[in-house]
Amino acid sequence: MTQRSLYDLDRSDWGEFLSEEPAFRVDQIFNGLYHQGKELDELTSLPQTLRTRLRSELPTALQTVTQQASDNGETTKFLWELSGGARVETVLMLYPDRATVCISSQAGCAMGCSFCATGQAGFERQLSAGEIIEQVVRARRVAAEQQPPRRVSNIVFMGMGEPMANFDNTWAAVQRIHDDMEIGARHITVSTVGLIPGINRMAAEALPVNLAVSLHAADDDLRNELVPINRKYPLKDLMESCANYFAATRRRVSFEWAMIHDVNDRISDAQALAGLAQPLRAHINLIPLNPTPGYAVRGSSRNRVRAFREELERLGINVTVRDTRGTEIDAACGQLRAGHEATPVSRPQRRSPLPE
Ligand code: SAH
Ligand code: SF4
Repeated sequence: MTQRSLYDLDRSDWGEFLSEEPAFRVDQIFNGLYHQGKELDELTSLPQTLRTRLRSELPTALQTVTQQASDNGETTKFLWELSGGARVETVLMLYPDRATVCISSQAGCAMGCSFCATGQAGFERQLSAGEIIEQVVRARRVAAEQQPPRRVSNIVFMGMGEPMANFDNTWAAVQRIHDDMEIGARHITVSTVGLIPGINRMAAEALPVNLAVSLHAADDDLRNELVPINRKYPLKDLMESCANYFAATRRRVSFEWAMIHDVNDRISDAQALAGLAQPLRAHINLIPLNPTPGYAVRGSSRNRVRAFREELERLGINVTVRDTRGTEIDAACGQLRAGHEATPVSRPQRRSPLPE
């Protein structure tokens, strides 16, 4: 069990922690830390003795290892070290109309998707809710330092790890990002490889956040290979669970599809995908594959991405192609591989030949 950190405490925990203090202290701390985004040392209205106590009993969780900017300063990647030495990454992306933080829910990931750098590195440990929230707090501070200052508007759980394999902490973080940091449910997206129990739990929650499902294949044979957890949660069941999510929340699900040359980027793949998306009116997000050391297959060419997108559009599917923000600093999806940058991966390629 790692030590509780500053952002692990929710409002009622603060009430307990400060039971000897006047009641207004909780509001003071909450306003300072969450609404104003201040650091503990900047909460000068607190007595010095209390600040000293907080510093020693509730340290912050994320030590900066590196902070790198790219795309003319519009993308910032943070590499953090957690207690115990595990490392995770966060990415802040500034767009003209919004500012999005991509956060990690686990150090590493146990799901072993063949094309994903995080998956290739294996699982290290779960993040606490406070460790997830602190990523938003820290990225938000950097956004506020921009000229002109920017406000973080969107949160995506698309960094390292599988959020549904750390459901309790992920959901506690979602609720507090919503309640304490005032980011609307429509602006929070949880991306999953397709862990059905997690999707069903999320469907039963009151906060209707966006659900993104990393599909990448529209038939079980290929999906078993790209996304091994498909053996446990096959497509038919997964689609049922997505339909249930849509029915319960009225939020359209989106499907992510990493475009892999000659693996899942043929016109017939687009047609099969459209067949899954249509009944759900799902939105498709195409992600040009980012190269990773452990997966020797190329991403699709621009032309093939375009043809695939056009086929989906022809079939009436709502589709976007994700931009490749942060590729020059390895901050793009699937390239998050914190703390393992220097480790060459010599794992054999998992893909077996495909029928034409
Ligand atoms: N574990 C969750 C969330 C993190 S991954 C999930 O899998 O959904 C975020 C997205 O990046 C997923 O859609 C994932 O499939 C995709 N991704 C992983 N590796 C990639 C790569 N090398 N190129 C492009 N996208 C990748
Ligand atoms: Fe884990 Fe998602 Fe990467 Fe798969 S794609 S290994 S679930 S982080």
